[in-house]
Formats: sequence, C-alpha cells, structure tokens
Amino acid sequence: MNGSGTRQTASGLLPLDTTEDVRAGRAGVAVLPIGSFEQHGAFLPLVTDTVIACAIAREVAAAYPVHHLPPITISCSHEHAAWPGTVSISAATLNAVVRDIADSLRRSGIGALVLVNGHGGNYVLRNVVQESAGSGTRMALFPGSADWDAARNRAGVQTRSHSDMHAGEVETSILLHAHPELVRPGYETSDCTADDRKHLLTLGMHAYTESGVIGRPSMASAVKGKELLAGLVDSFGEYLSLLAPET
Ligand SMILES: [Zn+2]
Repeated sequence: MNGSGTRQTASGLLPLDTTEDVRAGRAGVAVLPIGSFEQHGAFLPLVTDTVIACAIAREVAAAYPVHHLPPITISCSHEHAAWPGTVSISAATLNAVVRDIADSLRRSGIGALVLVNGHGGNYVLRNVVQESAGSGTRMALFPGSADWDAARNRAGVQTRSHSDMHAGEVETSILLHAHPELVRPGYETSDCTADDRKHLLTLGMHAYTESGVIGRPSMASAVKGKELLAGLVDSFGEYLSLLAPET
C-alpha cells in the first residue's frame, strides 16, 4: 500500500526512504513538492507553501505507490518582493530545474512525474507540463483547481477561492492541522479582503494588502486542514490512474 515502503513519510516533511525502499517499491510515478520562500503575513512562516506542498506529498505517498521526492523550496515569488525575507528564482530557472529532475527520473526508469505545487505564482509549471507531452516523461500538475474546489467543499471552507488568496482560511487551516507549531498568534485578527486585484502582476501584492494577507485566516481550523488534505489525497487517485494505468 505504501509505495515508499515506510510509515516514516507520515511524520516528517522530508521523505526518509533508502535506496532499498525505492527498489522494493518499484514506483513508476514520482511526486515532487514545489513550495516557495515568501512572506505569509506576520503569523505564518516564509516556508508555508513548502510545508503545504510537502504535507500533501507525504499524505499522497502514504496512500499510493509513488516515489516521494524532497521539495523545491524557492520558486517564483516576485509579487511578494516588497516584504523582507522573500526570495525568488526566475521562471526560466524553475522550468530548467523541473525538467532536469524529470530527465533524471526517466534515466532511472521512472517515466511519470506529478508536480505538487503549493504556490499559485508558479505559472510556469503549467507550461512545463504542457511541453512535457511527447517528451518521454508524462507529467501532471496537482492539485488542479477542481481538486481544490472539491477539498474546500469537503472541509466546509467558507471563504470563496478567489478571496482566499494568501495566508487565508485554507493555508492557515492546513498548517494548523499538519504543523500547528509553525502558526504564531495573530491569525485570528488578520483578515484582509482584496477581491479586486486586477493589476497584481504589474503592481505586486503590496498594492492590495499592507499586512501581506489576502483572505480570512480567522476562519481557519485544524479540522478544516485535515479534511482539505484528505480531500486532496482522494483526488490524487485519478492522477495516478492517468499516469500509471498499469498500477
Ligand atoms: Zn502560500
């Protein structure tokens, strides 16, 4: 049942498999968490998106036979550059890193890769997956918007997805469930609504929020976080069937 061959994946953020675990698991599909290092208001850490991508990946690896990779922890956060601590790499670099990882996996006999993305600003990943068709490595980008919608419904998330953009109900809920020790006081009183963000890419986040939050973290709960992850794990099954129909 557990493709990583160990229950250790359910406890930490990083996969702890040995080469023998991977040999025994014989997984044909790899999962690569992709996070970011960007501001998430005053109450969530810069690594929030990485923690979320890793939490999704470890739950997926505990439920399905996949090769669980460690995360990419810095990505495309240029819209958050106005806040201290945020670090980015270019879209071209992220594209190259992901393609290199896919090539390496293919040389070791793994021909399918799911990008588990925790940061909405990584637009380039859509192009990476788009361009992978016919390249010899089958790819998918997970979770898709329909997967998030299903998980949000299951968890009873109240904020609309457009309003719940950053450090809001969903992200805070997942951390409250998966790593509550990372959530600092203040999320209960940090709501910020900014539904009109027409020029976000041009102006950056700071044009629309002073605190860095866009959403309603006061609505977050650990129970919602647990159900969000459970919903996403359910949705992953379809991706596995798509990429590895023989499993
Ligand atoms: Zn985030």
